[in-house]
This record gives sequence, C-alpha cells and structure tokens, in this order.
Amino acid sequence: MATVTYDGATCLFPGSDKPAVENLDLQIEDGEFLVLVGPSGCGKSTSLRMLAGLEDVHSGRILIGDRDVTAEEPKQRDIAMVFQNYALYPHMSVAENMGFALKLVGMNKTDIRARVAETAKLLDLEPYLDRKPKALSGGQRQRVAMGRAIVRQPQVFLMDEPLSNLDAKLRTQTRTQIAQLQRRLDTTMVYVTHDQIEAMTMGDRVAVLDHGVLQQCASPRDLYSAPANVFVAGFMGSPSMNLFTLPITPEGVVLGDATIPLPRHFLSGTGEREVVVGIRPEHLELSSTGIPMEVGVVEELGSDAYIYGRSTVNGETQQLVARTDWRDPPRKGDLVKLHVDPAWVHLFSASTGDRLV
Ligand code: ATP
Repeated sequence: MATVTYDGATCLFPGSDKPAVENLDLQIEDGEFLVLVGPSGCGKSTSLRMLAGLEDVHSGRILIGDRDVTAEEPKQRDIAMVFQNYALYPHMSVAENMGFALKLVGMNKTDIRARVAETAKLLDLEPYLDRKPKALSGGQRQRVAMGRAIVRQPQVFLMDEPLSNLDAKLRTQTRTQIAQLQRRLDTTMVYVTHDQIEAMTMGDRVAVLDHGVLQQCASPRDLYSAPANVFVAGFMGSPSMNLFTLPITPEGVVLGDATIPLPRHFLSGTGEREVVVGIRPEHLELSSTGIPMEVGVVEELGSDAYIYGRSTVNGETQQLVARTDWRDPPRKGDLVKLHVDPAWVHLFSASTGDRLV
C-alpha cells in the first residue's frame, strides 16, 4: 500500500503546443479508490500512464509513497495496470496468464500456483484456470486481467476503462465487484473512466479533468452538492444540471416567480452584471407557480420520468429538463410550471465560471 502524489505533473506530447496534462497536483491516500473522470481527450489516460511510467513527465514529479518515481522505469514502480483491451496472452491458459508476471520475477512454481489459486478463488475463476482466453466470456476475461494484476500484490492498481467492453448489465455488476474487491484488498487504486455513474458509485473521491486541467477532486457527495465550477456542474449528474445566465438585480436573480438571493459580498463588490444559475432536474417540482415550460419529450425510465421542454427565461428560449413522478408524468405538449426551491440552487460567476460561496 502507498500514497500517490502528482506534484505539478505536466505531459506535453511532441508536436503539440498545449499540454495533455497540465500542472496536475493531486494527493491520493493510502488505500484510497480515486477515479479520474472527464470527457474524451481531457487527459485522464495520460495522467494514469504518467503514473505507470508509460508517458514522460515534462515538468513536476510523481511520487509513490515517499519515493520519487518520475525517472523510474515502469517495472521498477511496483504498480499493476489493467487495460481496456485486457491484453491477455492468447496462447496461455488462464493460470499461465495470471502467473506470468510472477514467473518473470523468478518466483518458484509452488508459490506461483498457490498465489494464482488464491486469486482465482477471490475472482470466481477456479473453474476456468485451464482454459485459453478465447474460450472465456468478456466478463471472465475482464476478471483474468484483474487477477493478473492482483497476483503481483502491487502497491498501487491502475485501471484504464476496464469495463468498457462489457454490456450494460455486466458493467453494473462488475463495477460493484471491483469496488468490493478494492476494499477487501485495501490497495490504493487509480481508476479511469469517462462514465460519471461509474465514477460516482466507485470512487472514494473523484477527480474531474477538462482539457488537461484538474477542475475538482472531491467525494461523490461533495461533487454533487457543491460543484466547484460550471464545467463540473454540467458534467456530473444525469440528466445534466440546467444552467441559465441571468442578470443580477438588487434583490438577487429572478427565475420565473422565484427570486434567488445572492451572497452579499457578490452583490456589492464585484461589478458583475450577470450570474450563472444551476438547478438539477431532480430539484424542480411541478407546481401551480414557477418557471413555465412547454413539454417536448417525456422520458419514462420506470422508477423516474424526465420531462424535457422549452421555457422562456429572462425573455430567451431555454431548454429545460425536470424529474417528475413516474406514476403521473405530464404529456408532450402540456404547459406546466416548475417550482424552484432557492435552497437547491447553485450559483456561479458568469465571468470565471467558479462557484459563488
Ligand atoms: P479518452 O476518454 O478519449 O481515452 P482521455 O481523457 O483519456 O480520452 P488522453 O488519451 O489522455 O485523453 O489524451 C489527452 C490529449 O492528449 C488528447 O488531446 C490526445 O489527442 C492527446 N494525446 C494522447 N496520446 C497522444 C500521443 N501519443 N501523441 C500525441 N498526442 C496524444
């Protein structure tokens, strides 16, 4: 077990004038499950690969425990990585695939067999030890790839989108298994995904990246309840938070028939004329008063229903989404009103995008 520290770590690919990862500062605790999440191209895989020693660190440092590993070769770092495509050796059995790294470091056959058997038991792979990868399902292959990492008992596990080849149901099952396994093994884990539900359900903390820059690193609960800026607010949560840019009045901002107060220092000192107001779909409620909306689409998901439509906010047409009661959702074409509880409203600076506190 070990902590992981990114200390101003930057990766600039040859021929590019913008770093893929810029000045990343992140401290990962011993035994923590840390998820790196963000849209395609935000730099999450590069961040992981820098830690693995597979990409150069152009400035800054990476530490595992107290050890500066920035200049170390991947095999010196005592980490194990599970890739998206699993990278299993097709000509080797499951047992051989799992034991191969131990063989390379010169462990004797009896010890390898014992370590592989113990790991196979943990992952429900005992019946498949003699099979070749091509005779396994996607989920079983995924577990072999995990097993190959686990047998090495590394200080840190790295996983890059390990569930992306699985169907939706298996993804859900496997994400719970991985989270449970990590808690049992109590080993530091850095896990990359573009899927915010995976990030929120698995991570002790979630680091959100955009354009190579860390936007926020916090517990799932804090990311949801206090996103640090407009990007995090829009990225985390499904469907996304409704965001409106509205003028500031002396009383605050006016949204439908609600007036949302602003922090006093913001009203008096900043000279800002507009503010970004964010409301999650689950915090809008059908009511006799509130923001008017014409329902365009009703999405019924069984336990929930979402209504999507258009509204006129501050004289402009805006798209809006709200969660409603699944038993009695409005219909397409209905005119409804959505009540806003000011306690659930998020406010961001229109000039910087940062959260107002
Ligand atoms: P995805 O979810 O699509 O895999 P990501 O967040 O993991 O995306 P990275 O793969 O880390 O993103 O890429 C970050 C940026 O670096 C992207 O703009 C990408 O085009 C660029 N990049 C990645 N690998 C290389 C490379 N070997 N050479 C040049 N540029 C690269």
